[in-house]
Amino acid sequence: MTDQQDKSVIIERFSDILKGKGKRKTPERIKILEKVLDFKKLFTVEQLYQVMLNDDFPVSRSTLYNTVDVLMEIGWLRKMNTGESSIAYERVEQTAQIHLKCEHCGKIKLVKDTSFMAYMNARKFMAFTTSYYNLTVYGVCNDCARRIKQLKRKQKSDKK
Ligand SMILES: [Zn+2]
Repeated sequence: MTDQQDKSVIIERFSDILKGKGKRKTPERIKILEKVLDFKKLFTVEQLYQVMLNDDFPVSRSTLYNTVDVLMEIGWLRKMNTGESSIAYERVEQTAQIHLKCEHCGKIKLVKDTSFMAYMNARKFMAFTTSYYNLTVYGVCNDCARRIKQLKRKQKSDKK
């Protein structure tokens, strides 16, 4: 997710989203997004502020909050309750994860599929700007498949 090529794809999509929302693509917003992408774990706006300062790119806190709000709105960030007074944010990696849902027991397994992500990131729809997507694949989990097989075998032997 953080390699350079992915990053430029994400930045390009963010620019499109800003345009779609009638917001300007400012160097500040792009730089903030780049820094957000570098965070591996939870971060606070205060940490983001420091990171921007350290990079000789000082921005106001209101600009930070404004950009974080946009990222939340499009589902790229979520607020996390840390139990402390400061609000932490976490990146949502919705793009690389596919939900595999069992139709029988409802169990959901998350798998990463980077080729699907690359495909979707490159995909452009007419008269539509994608913010995010989530994909659920329905099927049968191994446990249920085994159970169903046993049940069928039992029914067969009961008939005899
Ligand atoms: Zn199942």
